[in-house]
Amino acid sequence: MSNFIFGPVQSRRFGLSLGIDLSPDKKQCNFDCLYCELKGAKTTDNIQNPPLVHDIINELKSSLVKFPNIDVITITANGEPTLYLWLKELVWQINEVKNGKKLLILSNAACIHDKNVQEALLDIDIVKLSLDSVTHKIFQKLNRPHKGVNLKYITDGLKEFSKVFKNELVLEVLVVENFNDTRDEFMTLNEIINEISPSRVDISTIDRPSAYKVNAVSYEALEILSREIKNIPVVIANRGKFAKTAVNLKEIEIIQLLKMRPQSEEDMKNILDENSKELLQNLLINGKVHLVNVANINFYKLTCNS
Ligand code: SF4
Repeated sequence: MSNFIFGPVQSRRFGLSLGIDLSPDKKQCNFDCLYCELKGAKTTDNIQNPPLVHDIINELKSSLVKFPNIDVITITANGEPTLYLWLKELVWQINEVKNGKKLLILSNAACIHDKNVQEALLDIDIVKLSLDSVTHKIFQKLNRPHKGVNLKYITDGLKEFSKVFKNELVLEVLVVENFNDTRDEFMTLNEIINEISPSRVDISTIDRPSAYKVNAVSYEALEILSREIKNIPVVIANRGKFAKTAVNLKEIEIIQLLKMRPQSEEDMKNILDENSKELLQNLLINGKVHLVNVANINFYKLTCNS
């Protein structure tokens, strides 16, 4: 039985994932988000009784033999994994044994200004960081950070980190009704996100019972808000679940859509009717559009000069 390894679990956004939990006994986080899937808990700035790197690596090696077909190894925690004391050493050792798999970390970005954390993350293949709001008041109310966690440090840290990080950086915005679900918030987010320039932005809402009483927004709301994010590939979580009637777009309209930003393969499959899919396929064949893979998701991207 594993103490620190769980899964594999299928993640639509990252593929088949084997998880490493750095806080298996209890929630230890520097946020206490209203929407957290874990029970509300007092915030902390460290992980008590951290598992030893050596023990994690031993378990990981056995799990990799058992599950050779996974896509990613995900560092996570019942809380915040960047609070783990020996993160850099852990990343280094996972990279030694991962056998061609990608390494992913899911973090709330609260410590991203910390040089030691940045250094540890540099050697990870996919870094997924949360940024739900860039408005101080909303950030405080929604993410309920530990004292000392500062939104300005987070946004500055994200900009700084993205300049030196050479692998795939994904930002996630989780939208909660009556908190960060306004056009104004997304317009401001768009400015900061474009300064950070991540590889991809994931937009989601609550889809499981949460620690406190807060509500999800509708799929339509997510889609409208996502239009404010320009230039960067965007994935709306669970789009397939909400797939509506397929739309018919002319070639020029498909090009306009892709001019706004790259669109994921799955989104195009769900949104377009058969005729439009054929047009898109032709654009692909004649080179006006090409596919790029961003953190295990394919996107249609306009080829320059199209
Ligand atoms: S950062 Fe993640 S683990 Fe921490 S409170 Fe928020 S949702 Fe929960």
